[in-house]
Amino acid sequence: MIRVTVWNEYVHEREYEGIRKVYPKGIHGCIAEFLETNEDIRVQCVTLDMPNQGLSEELLRDTDVLIWWSHARQEEITDENVRLVQEHVFAGMGLIALHSAHFSKVMKTLLGTTMTLSWRDGDREKLWCTAPWHPIAKDVPACIDILQEEMYGEFFDIPKPDDVIFTGWFAGGEVFRSGCTFTRGYGKIFYFQPGHEEYPIYHMPEIQKIITNAVRWAMPLRRLQAVPECRHITGTE
Ligand code: ZN
Repeated sequence: MIRVTVWNEYVHEREYEGIRKVYPKGIHGCIAEFLETNEDIRVQCVTLDMPNQGLSEELLRDTDVLIWWSHARQEEITDENVRLVQEHVFAGMGLIALHSAHFSKVMKTLLGTTMTLSWRDGDREKLWCTAPWHPIAKDVPACIDILQEEMYGEFFDIPKPDDVIFTGWFAGGEVFRSGCTFTRGYGKIFYFQPGHEEYPIYHMPEIQKIITNAVRWAMPLRRLQAVPECRHITGTE
């Protein structure tokens, strides 16, 4: 059983009626619903407004893969919580950061760069698979048309990815490393650009397939039992 936790900021879906219509159960609700159609995946959801911002040592111990969506209130995440997520990634927990979560404190801390990019509202994207041999690309079409998406463009200030699995092309001419993998400690990280909250992108079967593949890929093969151990990584399990 793969234990997934979806952490969602859950602000836009409650503030804007148009976005609530796209995601009546929140972005986390949509992601949980399609992941749970897989018998071997169990999902729990937490949101920013919950006690301790939805995070705890117990929760992350019970999490193989953490999915993170955030945008408007990224700066509110406490340094304590950033450290908690970071240590669990070092110990082996998988992390999937979606869309604007590139700029979350968790991602900036783990990857160590500014994570800045160029940006424009309202465009159309063709998402090309640039690593068809990768497990995250399994049974995914060579090109996916996303009829409405926010433009994220280069230069994207990230460290050199292990693999660039998807490259986005936008009708305005920009390109973007839209699906990138990294490793930190024992943990695997996947950043995936599609998913602006105004458009029904997480309802698309191809996008759901990619996120499901990413969950299976990010599932830890080895995980340190005690998080403090990873402060002095010794290989003790
Ligand atoms: Zn957006």
